[in-house]
Amino acid sequence: MLFSQLCAYFEKIQDNPSQIHKINILAELFGKCKTDEIENIVMLCLANVFLSNPEKELGISSNLIAETISKAFCIKKKIIMNEWQKTGDLGITAQNLFFKKTQKMLFSSKISICDVVANLQKFAIIEGKNAQLKKIQIISSLFGSCTGLEAKYLSKIIIGNLRIGISEGIIKEAILTGFFTNILWKNMLLQKRDKKQVFEEIFELKNTNIIIEKKIIDFLKKKKNFDLFKKNNKIKLLEKKEIKDFFYKNSFFKKKNKIDFCISGETEFGNELKNKIEKKIDTSFQATNNLALIAKIAKQEGEFGLNKLDMKLFCPIKVMLAQKAQSFEDAFERVGIPSAIEYKYDGIRMQIHKNKDKIQIYTRKLENITKQFPEIEHAIKKNILCENCVIEGEAVGIDANTKKYIPFQYISQRIKRKYRIKELSEKFPVVLHIFDITYFAGKSMLLEKFSKRRKLLEKIIKQNNALLIAKQLITSSIKDAKEFYKLALKDNQEGVMIKNLNSPYIPGSRVGTMLKLKPILDTLDLVIVGAEYGKGKRKGYLSSFLLACKDEKTGEFKTIGKLGTGLKEKQEQGTTFMDLSNLIKEDILMQTDLSVFVKPKIVVEVAYEEMQKSTNYESGYALRFPRFIQIRPDKDASDINTIKDIELLKKLS
Ligand code: AMP
Repeated sequence: MLFSQLCAYFEKIQDNPSQIHKINILAELFGKCKTDEIENIVMLCLANVFLSNPEKELGISSNLIAETISKAFCIKKKIIMNEWQKTGDLGITAQNLFFKKTQKMLFSSKISICDVVANLQKFAIIEGKNAQLKKIQIISSLFGSCTGLEAKYLSKIIIGNLRIGISEGIIKEAILTGFFTNILWKNMLLQKRDKKQVFEEIFELKNTNIIIEKKIIDFLKKKKNFDLFKKNNKIKLLEKKEIKDFFYKNSFFKKKNKIDFCISGETEFGNELKNKIEKKIDTSFQATNNLALIAKIAKQEGEFGLNKLDMKLFCPIKVMLAQKAQSFEDAFERVGIPSAIEYKYDGIRMQIHKNKDKIQIYTRKLENITKQFPEIEHAIKKNILCENCVIEGEAVGIDANTKKYIPFQYISQRIKRKYRIKELSEKFPVVLHIFDITYFAGKSMLLEKFSKRRKLLEKIIKQNNALLIAKQLITSSIKDAKEFYKLALKDNQEGVMIKNLNSPYIPGSRVGTMLKLKPILDTLDLVIVGAEYGKGKRKGYLSSFLLACKDEKTGEFKTIGKLGTGLKEKQEQGTTFMDLSNLIKEDILMQTDLSVFVKPKIVVEVAYEEMQKSTNYESGYALRFPRFIQIRPDKDASDINTIKDIELLKKLS
């Protein structure tokens, strides 16, 4: 396929704001292209020619592209920069400037999509002193054979974002529509189309293997083109139930079961099938992290092929991410009990692939950092007792002398270090705390329960100074969980993770089955200077408390935020709104219907998420999401934090 043809599709997609249309245009493109072209097409749609090799990147800045365009088009860079500022899009800039170059107006390009992909993929092996120069030469020569429209999309592809609304989600939908469409879904997916159009489409089918629900055939027979339709296609008539059985027993494998379409009146069933395939595309994506491959397999072999796709060694997958928990009560409710509580280590997340003596280490961004961590590579080779696996862990820095953990910022410099690696590894050694396994003995472990994955880790890891399994406590007790949390903080770690024992590993998602709990930040001691009455179930007592810090210069109290969370509704849960209301009611200085102003007397310890400069409060700062920790009866207003403290904390954050 010519690159110009693909660019024409991109233009259509850009001009069509509706998602459903974007999906249909892509589905049509995927259907029409050759099987050996579809991988390149998907890569260009996502502006990433390294989908099967995620550690690689083009490594070209927008500025450098502007420079290359300047050379290729013989236009001063300043003109390009001015135009870029006006349009805000380097691709459109390239196109606009191209049209100013009259001598190229009649030129018509013949570059193919394969030319574009193959040339850009060369970047993966260009290294060394003149690497940048060589890359510029390749891009210049591509620009040299481009039309204006192609220059627009080539620039966007090199930048890594087409900005026409093609996301991974849209590609997945297009694969679904393009390759797993029975007429029913098509009808559902294209809801805006009328039935007449759908039937016209049916009658256009030729050399197609079609299942038709018996109930519908009489209806179709009445249509005038039916006889021709019947002659042109191979039709199999089935009852509704038989169709269901057929699709559940046989996967959507065109070559195997020789079915291209199914026409049925059963919408529910259409939905079920759609969900089934949608899920299959999702799990294939989670395992391979490569939509280009999925599109190719779907085109070639349908669902049958997707069933065979699995995780592969040295093809890193996206990592599973955690959601925040507010407290252990909150966490246990969401994750279920008993759950696994683990140290939340403050370090570098590593996904490590091992096959015999070959080890590769990837970051959570899937960058390959094997060279930067020779001691981890060595430790894995020696101490993981299996032939192949993919494990995940957190590498935490330790002080070489005291053997105590040190914060992430000390070891973060090791990630990018390309030289004097040994020196840095001696200065900032790390210990790997392994917390998951996603592949073992040639098979994916993604769908196994967390408890089973953990047991496997315990079986295959020979623990030592450099390699440990994450500290874990399985409990249903809030008290024990809190003790464990304190221990983690005392050990200089960030907090804890709380994990559902039965959960599978879901790559790339911020899942509700793995939560993180950590101190919000340092707490502040502040004084209550006012409050507002509550509404609804908190009617009749004070529910929002105005907090102040101290101006150390004048001794005045200056407001800094309003506190409304962290207090409880019921006595047995801790300090309630009512408790605090009753306390401050004794000190009211001024009162309106809605609020009170009180003597600065009650000191409270407050946690918060962030400190912001603000003109809303007298101190010049505002606390974001302040949360009540406890009343400090041992302190009086003169002991509270000052504006100077706040300024310091703001600087540190
Ligand atoms: P977040 O990145 O904000 O979703 O927080 C989870 C991060 O904590 C993970 O990405 C890991 O890098 C890190 N982490 C530290 N210890 C653990 C552990 N025991 N289990 C899972 N993740 C952990």
